[in-house]
Amino acid sequence: MMQNHISPDKEDQMIELAYQNLLNGYLSSNHRKKVEVIDKAFKFARDAHQGIRRRSGEPYILHPIAVATIVSQEIGLGSTSISAALLHDVVEDTDYTVEDIEAQFGQKIARIVDGLTKISGGIFGDKASLQAENFRKLLLTMSEDIRVVLIKMADRLHNMRTLSSMPANKQYKIAGETLYIYAPLAHRLGLYAIKTELEDLSFKYNHPAEHKRISELIAASEESRNELFARFSAPIRERLDNMGLKYEFNTRVKSCFSIWNKMQTKHIPFEEVYDLYAARIVFECDDESAEKRICWNIYNEITEVYAKHPDRVRDWLTTPKVNKYRALHVTVMGPDGNWVEVQIRSRKMDDIAERGFAAHWKYKIGESEEEDELAAWLGTITDILKDPEPNAIDFLDTIKLNLFASEIVVFTPKGETMTLPKGASVLDVAFILHTDLGTHCIAGKVNHKLVPLSYKLSGGDQVEILTSQSNTPKAEWEKYLVTAKGKTRLRSALKHQRRLIIEEGEKRFMEFLKQHNIEFSNEVLSQAITRQRIANKEELFFLIGNGEIALNEDLVSKKEHGSRINWWRRNPFRGKEEPKKTTEEATEAVDTKAVYPLTTRNGISNYQIADCCHPIPGDDAVGFLNDAGRVVVHKMDCPTLARLKASYGSRLIQTQWQDSTDRFLATIHIEGIDQKGILQSIVNIISTNMSINMKRMNVTADQGVFSCDLDVLISDAKVVTNLCRGIKKIKGVNSASRMS
Ligand code: MN
Repeated sequence: MMQNHISPDKEDQMIELAYQNLLNGYLSSNHRKKVEVIDKAFKFARDAHQGIRRRSGEPYILHPIAVATIVSQEIGLGSTSISAALLHDVVEDTDYTVEDIEAQFGQKIARIVDGLTKISGGIFGDKASLQAENFRKLLLTMSEDIRVVLIKMADRLHNMRTLSSMPANKQYKIAGETLYIYAPLAHRLGLYAIKTELEDLSFKYNHPAEHKRISELIAASEESRNELFARFSAPIRERLDNMGLKYEFNTRVKSCFSIWNKMQTKHIPFEEVYDLYAARIVFECDDESAEKRICWNIYNEITEVYAKHPDRVRDWLTTPKVNKYRALHVTVMGPDGNWVEVQIRSRKMDDIAERGFAAHWKYKIGESEEEDELAAWLGTITDILKDPEPNAIDFLDTIKLNLFASEIVVFTPKGETMTLPKGASVLDVAFILHTDLGTHCIAGKVNHKLVPLSYKLSGGDQVEILTSQSNTPKAEWEKYLVTAKGKTRLRSALKHQRRLIIEEGEKRFMEFLKQHNIEFSNEVLSQAITRQRIANKEELFFLIGNGEIALNEDLVSKKEHGSRINWWRRNPFRGKEEPKKTTEEATEAVDTKAVYPLTTRNGISNYQIADCCHPIPGDDAVGFLNDAGRVVVHKMDCPTLARLKASYGSRLIQTQWQDSTDRFLATIHIEGIDQKGILQSIVNIISTNMSINMKRMNVTADQGVFSCDLDVLISDAKVVTNLCRGIKKIKGVNSASRMS
């Protein structure tokens, strides 16, 4: 251990030096100089961790100092955060409590330390749901004070920088977690430099050999790269000099991780990664109003020297990224015939791009509290957290989508811009604009063309929402929504609507009793509930309000008989003469070896077809008992089912298709070379087959390539197989297969 080699005096010196470095950095920042509280926090932490060492052998206090230094110098936070960072492991690792911290440092710092202590465990447990739960905790803490997450980020960065002292299996786990959660989160927070470093460090520990190889290749190609850049940049420099600009023109080699990523996704060797580096022009400019114009002037000069790639101009000036990134990117053909990306930024834009929040304080005129700066960013997160949805896995999906998905920008008819996650629909836009607009949305107009509310938007689309006052929200809309705000608003609208139906049902029930001179009592109520084999009075009133339970004598009379229809319809375990159980109880009662017959009577099925995979008779299918007690049938290989299986394995039920006259929806995807009559031939095959009913046909022909999505109603999988076989025989058709 190191302690044997370094004298206590030397160690104290080391600690003092590290702390002085932290203070000096803070004093040269634009923050108010509140050294006193930082000093107090340092001494408190130093004494609390006294005698404790990190795995590497160095005194423990060096870790909190390092974290505080990152918080100050790389993230740019002030005294509150620096103090909290110094104290971040005190409650976790020593006998001090949050109350002690509060007594010494006040509520603000104590709260942050408390938040950091709560999320100190790994984000990942052994189970998917646990991991989601921890992530939720992290974000909840974040909504209270975003500094918790920023400090956590610094903590993680320092742990990654010193990961080599950990045992290999821990390295692997921590590196994986960093890549999965922390790097994307850093990106979303605008901490670009930290994100890149986290990715590269994770990569180094996850794929050490690859990392070494790529580092060596980058080093080996340096000379030729420099030569090439000199040739490329010379004519541009001449022009920029003539413009009278003060600027830096450098190259930035891609990180090992992103090079490796490119090699993986494009299946190419290192030598073929042509955009190994990006060129970057950073110009000095005191006049903020001139920044944009200068960027475009530089762009003009460059494109007069080199041919530009028609699709690779990125204007992040007019519409900055959500993480505040601003720049102008252009890709041009260099003298050696390779494409080179040139990023054009002012000094300020460059600072923001590299350091995220840190840069904001640097340019702040006058003093401002950290709180104000961070408040705006919290908007999105708070929206997501308002969602009362208890299902942790859905929550994880939603939040991952919103935090990490790439973004598109669309326009309102008035020309206002709106930034959305990729995959957002017309309905998302409607709900984001206003809940009322969402609930009454019937369709949209995208670029003046009428589209359904499920229509997925592309960047640059102009979107208009069409509404009808008589329209009500539908539960199945949820699958069209990807934004957290949209989902949250739909859910609360549905709840509100359900409330109204329940009230209506209760009113009708009371009126019915009155008409039949029956006095209302809890007995009457519970009798009705028992006879319908349902869970509670809300459910009873809801079904009455919805017209699903008829109000008749059977419901409330004293005679011991009742309608059975709701029983077998609503309860998959009919035949067992027991009152309705809660889902959890019912699950225990399931004999998983028994086979549940999928049948339909009088047009009512005892099961539901899953929207995700649309199984049809003949498919290998499995039933899943949902929260409402219904059996939802999934295909055996459905990814959604796999996810459910992981968390609720005991709710799976073996199923068997029974003969029925039902028709099921299947989608067939056809591709081929566009030929005259190809469509007619397909339609012919379908229309001559009596057992197939065509619901929708969506044909596109692009530069001679024909593709067609066909929705058909059929009786079972065999019919689809035969249909595909028939279609494949048509001249020009390359493939025809069922889609899931
Ligand atoms: Mn720590």
